[in-house]
Amino acid sequence: MIWNPNKECMGREQMRELQGKRLQKLVQYVYHNVPFYRNKMQAMNVAPEDIVTIDDIVKLPFTTKQDLRDNYPYGLQAAPASEIVRVHASSGTTGNPTIVGYTRKDLAVWSEVMTRCLTAFGVTREDTFSVSYGYGLFTGGLGAHYGVENLGATVIPASTGNTEKHIHLIKDLNITGIACTPSYALYLAETLDKLGIDKKDINLRVGAFGAEPWTENMRKEIESRLGLKGYNIYGLSEIMGPGVSYECEEQNGSHINEDHFYPEIINPETLEQLPRGQQGELVFTTLTKEGMPLLRYRTKDLCTLMEGECACGRTLVRMSRIMGRSDDMLIIRGINVFPSQVESVILEMQEFEPQYMLIVDRVKNLDTLQVQVEVRKDYFSDDMLIIRGINVFPSQVESVILEMEEFEPQYMLIVDRVKNLDTLQVQVEVRKDYFTDDIGSMLALKKKLADKVKSVLSISADIRLMEPGSIERSQGKGKHVIDNRKLG
Ligand code: ADP
Ligand code: ZN
Repeated sequence: MIWNPNKECMGREQMRELQGKRLQKLVQYVYHNVPFYRNKMQAMNVAPEDIVTIDDIVKLPFTTKQDLRDNYPYGLQAAPASEIVRVHASSGTTGNPTIVGYTRKDLAVWSEVMTRCLTAFGVTREDTFSVSYGYGLFTGGLGAHYGVENLGATVIPASTGNTEKHIHLIKDLNITGIACTPSYALYLAETLDKLGIDKKDINLRVGAFGAEPWTENMRKEIESRLGLKGYNIYGLSEIMGPGVSYECEEQNGSHINEDHFYPEIINPETLEQLPRGQQGELVFTTLTKEGMPLLRYRTKDLCTLMEGECACGRTLVRMSRIMGRSDDMLIIRGINVFPSQVESVILEMQEFEPQYMLIVDRVKNLDTLQVQVEVRKDYFSDDMLIIRGINVFPSQVESVILEMEEFEPQYMLIVDRVKNLDTLQVQVEVRKDYFTDDIGSMLALKKKLADKVKSVLSISADIRLMEPGSIERSQGKGKHVIDNRKLG
């Protein structure tokens, strides 16, 4: 199904004309309403009248995230405050967040483009659709939400978190579609397994996945574990939010809603526009936006644009998957993270040397971020261990053990580093009266201690219950820590 064939299947020449007209109007609008653009255009000696066709776009200045930060909060806004009906902020920026204001018309366009996406994914009014992107300042939740409502399906504003409850809703409310990050979809699959619910017991059939890069392999895994068909959806707050581009049933690139968001690919070094088909940095101009229209916004996302007919019937140009970034931004659980943000936190704190390392990994389908940072000599206590960036004092574990009558006051902490992740093992002797062959009660005891340790240290430890007398007694001061990380 195609939501808006007039636009989605428009002839190429007609589309170019429409884009040209919209660009002319846009340039007049920003020239007269945004001093930032007027100054830039004057400095480049470009007048609004110089923009006639869409190809004239190369005469216009670029916009970067830094420009948005420098003009925080509302400096690039073109519409008067009275016309702004909603504000979102982009996740994870250094210093000031990026503020995006929307007029009523902007929100209508956003719902329209989101509805095109959902329709391409096969969602209809009959569906019950869970929006499991975060709601709030982040554009994912509300952006998808209004698209689902505009389409006429039933929206379940589940947001993120509370995964077990969410799964019960998926089952009980017969939820058939879901929008979330691909990593959350995998996490959902894990939780399903954990709850012992078979994918046949739920009716999910379509997923709209985006906000972070993912691969064909992830698609296969999500599809087979959740029993649905997964589609890619791309977007960014500065341009609108989710709904900038979307896959059709052909799944050969994502169609860009180019009557609203005009795409270019540039060489990120020379800033030259590159011909279709070449890989480079994706740049968007918001052809119809009123609140905060942007000229040639540099997304820093690397990809290629593909023209040519698509078997689905849409004529909208397609973009490949995002192949990387031209800056050092990381996306961790859907949140944009710039290493410089961590750096500035560390530099501000006198306890640390300006030495750090970020280690990003994916453990059980969830992104993890480890920050390793050096504690200055004067602040480094002998006893203190730093495990996964968390300060751990052996005495914290000791007091937990001393409080529990099941244990002897004998324990050993063994710290190690496995695949760049610190591990903590707690060996503790179980008192004779409590030591049994009954695996069930030993496991329960293990869990009881694990929970207590986790609550005091805020990291999990691998608990080993030892036979009475098996932990080596030291002659002098009790030795309670073996830190194998220092050996290697
Ligand atoms: P979002 O709310 O979509 O996370 P942000 O503005 O915070 O919006 O982040 C946008 C960035 O997220 C994009 O520039 C891109 O790097 C990444 N992104 C969004 N959707 C996708 C997608 N489907 N595939 C790859 N990367 C994506
Ligand atoms: Zn198509």
